[in-house]
Amino acid sequence: MISSLYLHIPFCHTKCQYCSFSSWQGRNNLHLPYVVSLKKEIERTAQSTRDRVQLKTIFFGGGTPTVLEPQYLAEILGLCKSLFPCEEDMEISFEANPGTINLKKLEALRVAGFNRISVGVQSFISDELRILGRSHTPQQAIDGIEMASAAGFENISLDLMYGLCGQDIESWKESLDTALSLNPNHLSMYQLTIEEGTPMAERVDQGILHLPDDEVIVAIDELNITECEKAGLAMYEISNYAQPGYECLHNINYWRNESYLAVGAGAVSYIDGKRERRYADPAEYCLKVDGDSNHIVESEELGLEESFRETVIMSLRMTEGVSTPRLSARYRIDIVEYYGEILTDLIRKGLVELAGEHLRLTPAGRIYSNIILAELV
Ligand code: SF4
Repeated sequence: MISSLYLHIPFCHTKCQYCSFSSWQGRNNLHLPYVVSLKKEIERTAQSTRDRVQLKTIFFGGGTPTVLEPQYLAEILGLCKSLFPCEEDMEISFEANPGTINLKKLEALRVAGFNRISVGVQSFISDELRILGRSHTPQQAIDGIEMASAAGFENISLDLMYGLCGQDIESWKESLDTALSLNPNHLSMYQLTIEEGTPMAERVDQGILHLPDDEVIVAIDELNITECEKAGLAMYEISNYAQPGYECLHNINYWRNESYLAVGAGAVSYIDGKRERRYADPAEYCLKVDGDSNHIVESEELGLEESFRETVIMSLRMTEGVSTPRLSARYRIDIVEYYGEILTDLIRKGLVELAGEHLRLTPAGRIYSNIILAELV
């Protein structure tokens, strides 16, 4: 059964300097046509998958879903709920950016049935936000999180980004402390990656912006674990921490490499090892969907072994690791036999361990996760 649905809202207030996501600044005139086309794709997806879907999670991501009027988001969610078989207590998330939310909007979304909000903060330092090209201030982020709580959200997640240009351990600690003082149920902390073709990549190449040294990153990684633990947030994935019971079910489905539906411009669905990417430009997407022509721009079908390795790599990102019985039931491949000496060596070095029915990274292994995962690809 497919248990997750992702909906992509490709609009943003402004385009951040580091962003390579499928998102477009402005284009407000496309909001309504996009909603109409998205609903069409939802209807078609529901028709073609109905007998094999039982939704446990719905995730509105972007872009910035909250640039849309809340009634549009409510209508889209209502349509999904009416067309797909759903569990009673679904996790229904949306991403929000400070500066695009207010109490009234959040209350409307809560009433519509959204029960989890993920606020993209990235930093609580004004200068860092400015360099990132974010369109909000630290105070707007704090206000946004407090408003989410006032609007009745009891599952609030916050995103921070580290390894920012000019960042040091002190400025990171300030952001982290501020985040933790807001008592989020869930905290994601991703290291900035400089994506080719972005304005930030150009400024780094030109030597105008400077990334922190590796020692700073290592110190930040260590600080994250200790400070989050003190605040009652346990790491459950390399970059994600949660209070018990607040782990993001939608993302766990991704990390277990299970199938999921996706709709919207640029969205990528993954069903039975087949990935399908939709046209990224919202105008083009609308044209394709409205004209009943193929709105899939790229598709890729993974072979059994490829899918197996991908499942191993992604699952190892989680603290629980990869379930060996689940893996062999799914692929009929024994992980220990498959990787042979490579895995034995990692276990011998204390970087990977077999704990009960799971194979997982050890705390030492997590420090070198990139290297280890690259060995297992
Ligand atoms: S808000 Fe997110 S999706 Fe939009 S431009 Fe910034 S990083 Fe990209």
